[in-house]
Amino acid sequence: MTTNRGRKDVIRDRMAATGESYNVAARHLKAMKDTAATRTAVLTQRWAPADSADVPCPCGSTCEPGETCGRCHARHLHVKRYPGSVTDVEVWADRYACAGCPSSYTLTVRLAGRPWGVAGTVVQGGSAEEVVRATVFPGVAHPLLRAAAATESEDA
Ligand SMILES: [Zn+2]
Ligand SMILES: [Zn+2]
Repeated sequence: MTTNRGRKDVIRDRMAATGESYNVAARHLKAMKDTAATRTAVLTQRWAPADSADVPCPCGSTCEPGETCGRCHARHLHVKRYPGSVTDVEVWADRYACAGCPSSYTLTVRLAGRPWGVAGTVVQGGSAEEVVRATVFPGVAHPLLRAAAATESEDA
């Protein structure tokens, strides 16, 4: 019905999360779209897994070496990365899959200087309780949180 409803919702979400005014929230969201941190976060998450353990991991070798599989004795390869926390923006979850069988596991890693979003403390409700609220950089897929300024073409 209204074409820019999505964007306004995103701004209102941020206002609710941060207590910012509409204009400030909109400005921050716009700024987040083209920061180096956003680009780094997207690159940290988006890469194609390697076919074998003989080549450096395409994630930039920011992961642990894959373990040897206890079932088939092939190596596990790093295949996926996604934010591993809802409040700690430097925590990522790395998924490893066995090259020889369906075995897989997930490791939590801290990547200093490669946050998947920004976190801030907000005061919540009548109890005036301080809570940490994280905003996901646009372009980063978070399993539990929505990206702050996902473009209309992108699936939320
Ligand atoms: Zn890796
Ligand atoms: Zn295996």
